[in-house]
Amino acid sequence: MEIITDIQDMQQRCLAARGEGKRLAFVPTMGYLHEGHLSLLRAARAAGDVVVLSIFVNPTQFGAGEDFDSYPRDLSRDAEMARAVGTDWLFAPRASAMYPAGFSTWVEVEGLTGNLCGASRPGHFRGVTTVVCKLFNIVQPHVAFFGQKDFQQLAVIRRMSADLNLPVEVRGLPIVREADGLAMSSRNVKLTPDQRRQALALFDGIRLAAAQVKAGERDSRRVLAAVRERIQQEPEARIDYIQVCHDETLSDLETIGPHAVLLLAVRVGATRLIDNHHLGEEIPEP
Ligand code: AMP
Repeated sequence: MEIITDIQDMQQRCLAARGEGKRLAFVPTMGYLHEGHLSLLRAARAAGDVVVLSIFVNPTQFGAGEDFDSYPRDLSRDAEMARAVGTDWLFAPRASAMYPAGFSTWVEVEGLTGNLCGASRPGHFRGVTTVVCKLFNIVQPHVAFFGQKDFQQLAVIRRMSADLNLPVEVRGLPIVREADGLAMSSRNVKLTPDQRRQALALFDGIRLAAAQVKAGERDSRRVLAAVRERIQQEPEARIDYIQVCHDETLSDLETIGPHAVLLLAVRVGATRLIDNHHLGEEIPEP
């Protein structure tokens, strides 16, 4: 595996590989890798001739007062994990090269970004779509892998790729969870042991909702009330949002049907966690 920091070098290698008829499979991340990221890399390994992983903590998707500075970073640890699952090229550009002086072009997806994280983190998705569009232009992948853990992000990136005719196949993969059900996240390391225990309320809430729906409940308000009540039992949990939305439009649903997804964003102490579950599916196993 090679580590590449120079943007032009990365772009030229990718163009050359494409020219040789190789299939490029790409996994964009912010690093501090865990099994969720590795599941994407393994899928990329199976789908492509060249696997490219990017690690870039993208400053433009963090708002003022968010955790850009304290976001966990460890490139040498990440490189070892990426190498072990067969990554070919690890692209780790510098922020000053991605956003040089004078940078002034933004990619913005409307509509889908108005709800959920788009509402609670103004400007977040503008940063995400801009950086993913830039990364797609640098790497020029045939296929790119994203996690369903960031359900809205996946929908927004699919929309951007379709709207801008980007020649990339976007694939979404299931949420990888810890043994006790907590969705894996780079931010989990910031939880104290007691907060780590409280964070299980998100998955408990999901299980509660899934069980209610399985028993025939179709009223979103009643399901949401039960999830909210469970999460509010934890002293350090602060609900950012808990909503039931349509899996394609991401607008709120009053009645639970085959398109209903439960989405949660909860702060446990200073750490913001997100999770989701498609209510048309079975109760998730951790
Ligand atoms: P991040 O480094 O958090 O920006 O995530 C990079 C990619 O990994 C995104 O496509 C995420 O959706 C995905 N990802 C993060 N956590 C998980 C997880 N627990 N399961 C599956 N995919 C994940």
